[in-house]
Amino acid sequence: MSNLRDLKDSPGNLVVADTLGRPLQDLRISLLDRCNFRCPYCMPEAEYTEDYQFLSKSARLSHDEIFRLAGIAVGLGVTKLRITGGEPLLDKKVADLVGRLATLAGVEDLALTTNGVLLAPVAQALADAGLQRVTISLDSLDEDIFRTMSGNRGDISKVLEGIAAAEQAGLSPIKINVVVQRGINDHTVLDVLEHFRGTGHIVRLIEFMDVGNRNGWSMEQVVPSKEVLKQIHARWPVRPVGRNYPGEVASRYQYLDGQGELGFISSVTEPFCGSCSRARISADGTLYTCLFASTGTNLREPLRNGADDQELATILSSVWKLRDDRYSETRRPVPDEKPLINKVEMYRMGG
Ligand code: SAM
Ligand code: SF4
Ligand code: SF4
Repeated sequence: MSNLRDLKDSPGNLVVADTLGRPLQDLRISLLDRCNFRCPYCMPEAEYTEDYQFLSKSARLSHDEIFRLAGIAVGLGVTKLRITGGEPLLDKKVADLVGRLATLAGVEDLALTTNGVLLAPVAQALADAGLQRVTISLDSLDEDIFRTMSGNRGDISKVLEGIAAAEQAGLSPIKINVVVQRGINDHTVLDVLEHFRGTGHIVRLIEFMDVGNRNGWSMEQVVPSKEVLKQIHARWPVRPVGRNYPGEVASRYQYLDGQGELGFISSVTEPFCGSCSRARISADGTLYTCLFASTGTNLREPLRNGADDQELATILSSVWKLRDDRYSETRRPVPDEKPLINKVEMYRMGG
């Protein structure tokens, strides 16, 4: 790995920036494309039936391969790693992988995103292995709405147990992701905020995004963050707070009564491509430089054909240096129009 240094102008001083000057800082690793939920906005159950062909074990990167690619990415300046999916906790050995990733010098932030149902029994093992924090998705506290939004799969009490176990294990600050869909769960957002106010957990309200091609997205179902903010401010006055780090996607707010923080991820109405420093590697080893990409770069093939670390680093850095993605800034949502491009689905690419 020492040769990686010549991709930097001096140690710690990165030259791996894209055409818009954005550094490569974050890497999201999708462990598998399978999921125990069928959230309609991500994997609608009519499309992902029992006989749907997900990636085979041999098609997925092994933990050895993931560890190697992560190490190379860290050598190029990545400081934040996130394990995701699909549902990453369906991988029974995820704590072993966490333990290995935690040994990479240069990783400042090691996190995992999960729907939370399988979290309670493994939260402590993940923390012991070196996981720093978790983000847990929970779209509503209303049982019926939650069931609908998990594709009739989710058990809300298990998610709440998962959150409690994560807290107990010190996987904090815990972030709670809520995808807000008009007419589906928007009227229950304040209940979620009320539940988590004062706990130290940070609820993040995410605009329903046009990821992939199968979730029937339309602008009518997007509730602009500004609209939600108004409702929140009327109930519990809030004030904006600055970003924690460059490239942070959430706009942060604090309750004026000291009950903590919340965030908005407003990819549709307030795009943040200008500071996007994220790459994703899917479970089959494809590198994507944008959540809305239609194509990626196959890393599995060179990896399995004997490429050395320097060669893999060159592929990664060359792709990043050519990157000009800014989908959210240029999207033209036209209701009812068929998608013009074949976007890779989010559960596959790694959310
Ligand atoms: N299965 C895990 C989970 O749900 O937390 C990790 C993968 S999931 C793809 C990552 C995040 O993407 C979740 O918080 C989910 O709510 C969010 N997500 C999926 N589809 C989305 C969409 N169409 N718009 C906004 N967020 C979405
Ligand atoms: Fe599964 Fe997460 Fe997608 Fe829901 S959002 S279907 S939990 S991958
Ligand atoms: Fe990054 Fe693509 Fe999202 Fe823009 S649209 S913030 S480039 S992932």
